[in-house]
Amino acid sequence: MFTNYKWNFVFVVLLVSLIGFIIFDIILIYSIRTYLFRQTFDEMHIKTDLTLELLEEKQLFPLSSKRNELHEFVSQIKTIVYSRVTIIDANGRVLSDSDVENNRIPFLDNHINRPEVKGAQQTGWGQSYRLSDTVNRKLFYTAFQIEHEGEKVGFLRLAYYAFHFENSMNRIFVFILLANFIGLIILFIAAMYLGTLVTFPILRIVRIAQKISSGNFERSFPTNRKDEIGILSQILNQLTDRLKNQIELLSYERSKLENILTNLNSGIVAIDANKKILHVNPEFCSILRETKEEIINKRIDEILEWEAILNPIGCTLKNERPETGEFIYYIETGKVFLSYIVSPFFISKDEKIGALIQIQDISELKYLEAIRRSFVASASHELKTPLTAIVGYAETLFEGAVQEPEARKHFLNRILAQARRLEYLVSDLLKLSQLEHDIPLEVDEIELIPFLQKIIDEFADKANQKKIYVSLEPFNQQIMVKADEELMRTVFENLIDNALKYTPTDGQVKIKVNPSDKESIKIEVLDTGIGIDPKYHDRIFQRFYRVDKARSRELGGTGLGLAIVKHIIERHSSVIFVRSEPGKGSCFCFDLETA
Ligand code: ADP
Repeated sequence: MFTNYKWNFVFVVLLVSLIGFIIFDIILIYSIRTYLFRQTFDEMHIKTDLTLELLEEKQLFPLSSKRNELHEFVSQIKTIVYSRVTIIDANGRVLSDSDVENNRIPFLDNHINRPEVKGAQQTGWGQSYRLSDTVNRKLFYTAFQIEHEGEKVGFLRLAYYAFHFENSMNRIFVFILLANFIGLIILFIAAMYLGTLVTFPILRIVRIAQKISSGNFERSFPTNRKDEIGILSQILNQLTDRLKNQIELLSYERSKLENILTNLNSGIVAIDANKKILHVNPEFCSILRETKEEIINKRIDEILEWEAILNPIGCTLKNERPETGEFIYYIETGKVFLSYIVSPFFISKDEKIGALIQIQDISELKYLEAIRRSFVASASHELKTPLTAIVGYAETLFEGAVQEPEARKHFLNRILAQARRLEYLVSDLLKLSQLEHDIPLEVDEIELIPFLQKIIDEFADKANQKKIYVSLEPFNQQIMVKADEELMRTVFENLIDNALKYTPTDGQVKIKVNPSDKESIKIEVLDTGIGIDPKYHDRIFQRFYRVDKARSRELGGTGLGLAIVKHIIERHSSVIFVRSEPGKGSCFCFDLETA
């Protein structure tokens, strides 16, 4: 039918009304017709009865011999009763008819079988409503038996033209049709109004629901009505709230997952059973140096050319068992170490999708591992040297040198020097290890100039011995910095110690404090010493690295001082730089946050 509720409603109302009207019309027309029939026949009965009495009065018997009188009689009576009057003999022959010329009477059909005549023959009277064969018109007929002196001598029949009846019926029919039509128009208007009344709030709900389904959850259904629409609105509002919460929860979970995958430092790729890529995270794209669009929906073996991982992927898809491993591949700038985990990818306990591949660039890890190994080797070597020396000196003493006072003193001094060297080494290693463990800084506000002056004073003897002039600039300004006092002491002790160590006699060492900007100051430790070739500038901050190993050892250096300094400065969110040229001195500089 119609797709629109309102038109469906109007259509049904009109259809039901039309059926109702038709049934009602049939009953009404039938009742009116029956009523008019009865009334007409009743009237005709009276008229027939009256005519019969007049016929008796006139004494026109025997009927068959008084045809002319009978014709006169029927013609007169017709004007009185407004009906066609027919006199028929007992055998059904017409003797006279008010509407038929006398000379035509003998040619008329025998009327004995006419329904009304038959009725009169059987019961004394009869009636019918039918088409007249004689005059070819619809007529009401009533027939009475004529009795004369106890004998049945014929029939008196009255026929009444049904014009009035037909006209009345037609008028009534037209009137009913008109009434039906007006009724249907009124019903149409009422149905339209009712349909609008019912559909308007529904349409409003539909419009709001459309907005909500397009993602606009700000709209809510009006709940001011107390009827079913109001209840429906309330239920829809509750549903919308629940839907909104569910969608928010889902998108929160989704973005959480997305964030986890995005921020994961492993490349993640999900593939289906046909090895088609379903999902990748940014890290995977960056490992492959491709964009997500170039990768997604392609087969993994089109994207990856490393057999070392394609084989395990095939195994996992086949056996549903995880596979792990590592492999190396080469790029222009060197080699990249990758580790992988391939696991079967299940959407639920029983439903497998494909495989989940996790790839991690472990080059940095491998590099750190190499550094750690080299550090362990260097540390062992550094520790072994003084230990070997101590053992050697001790053995020499045991072998007899202990008896000679000079030799004994010499070897004991040597043992002491190597033991001190061991102590420095262990102490520096401990410091480094503490720094690497990220123990929280104890940041204080330090008044920098007196703090530096105190450290410089501690080195006065050493500076005097080498006739090195140590200065501080400016020496009387109040500068406050935020730093861990103990660690800063280590930084300056190391830098000043290095400056004194690597500066020949009569040189100069200067600690310069320059305001950098409002939030920080620049500190420089300058010397006029041997300087450092630029090619070693990066390496001197590495553990155990010394430009001149023999000289450093001779001067009691551990090779860990600058590594410690770099660590401490970085812990203070700053960076240490070196400017130096061989023979022209060195300058170590860094920024510190002001208080
Ligand atoms: P060390 O204990 O050997 O001094 P450091 O880590 O403090 O170890 O320094 C590493 C290396 O940097 C030193 O061995 C030295 O070669 C070089 N170096 C450090 N400071 C200076 C400086 N002020 N002048 C010249 N060379 C320096």
